[in-house]
Amino acid sequence: MKLKKPEIKQNIKQFIVKPGRKVNLKSFDTGWAQNEGMKLLGEERSKDLLVEMLENDRTALASVQDVLWSARSHAVLIILQGMDTAGKDGTIRHVMSGVNPQGCSVHGFKVPTDEEHNHDFLWRYSKVLPQRGEIGIFNRSYYEDVLVVKVHPDILSDLAPDIGTDAKKFWDGRYKDIVSFEKHLVRNGTLILKFFLHISKKEQKKRLLDRLEHKEKYWKFSVADLAERQYWDQYTKAYEDMLQATSTEFAPWFVIPGDYKWVARTAVAEAIVTAIKGLNLSYPKVSDDEVKLLMDAKKKLEAE
Ligand code: ADP
Repeated sequence: MKLKKPEIKQNIKQFIVKPGRKVNLKSFDTGWAQNEGMKLLGEERSKDLLVEMLENDRTALASVQDVLWSARSHAVLIILQGMDTAGKDGTIRHVMSGVNPQGCSVHGFKVPTDEEHNHDFLWRYSKVLPQRGEIGIFNRSYYEDVLVVKVHPDILSDLAPDIGTDAKKFWDGRYKDIVSFEKHLVRNGTLILKFFLHISKKEQKKRLLDRLEHKEKYWKFSVADLAERQYWDQYTKAYEDMLQATSTEFAPWFVIPGDYKWVARTAVAEAIVTAIKGLNLSYPKVSDDEVKLLMDAKKKLEAE
């Protein structure tokens, strides 16, 4: 994918993984927008412009959320995936900072507990799906079950069905389960948006080192992240297979350029706003009789 100008609004569709199309992550530029913008506008101006776009999108998101909440006809499920340090937490913090917390939930998923292992792999996620009117964010998701588990198949629970002799069949089965699950959710009024925050290996090194260079960031560093970095190529392959198998017309994957945080955040915000607007929701209609009742109430109050 080669994008020319840093016009995220116009180019948002370019981030979508076309259903069924073979995915090669090398063809998605992790530094897009800032790199292009730098050539056209200079480093600072490009950043300022993109940050300004994010500010506008935050305001727009707050207003579309208000309509979503009042209409109560749809739920929005936002899924964030990415390599360690890809910026999932920061994206949630910056993109959602303007929305009403009452209509928003965030769930992070760690290594499953014994209880979770005792159920089908989608169980723990389906328990915390957003209700109609709500925006639900999954910081990691059931996609971990075809990513980290695929890279390290030994962590599959002993209680789960065995991979058996045909590994491809096993993973294809999981992709199909996920696609069917999402189809079910969409049919029932959930808008699903899935974002892969795509960073380069070089950028991950920079971010890991940054955590080791500032005392106040030490807590963010995990030795496990360094161990996982050794599996970069295996993760890349697992992501490519997963994106290809699970990006659908009804629940698309967006590959978001992640090397510059302000680009990633703006692109995610823009995609969410565009998709919610696309639902064409409106505030609940008030009938003539109800308006009459309201006006009577107004008169009574004014007469007090
Ligand atoms: P994060 O990196 O998202 O900030 P943590 O550092 O606590 O949060 O990492 C969560 C860990 O849980 C990750 O290493 C991730 O791979 C792991 N994990 C999440 N879901 C699963 C799963 N279904 N099976 C195995 N491991 C999982």
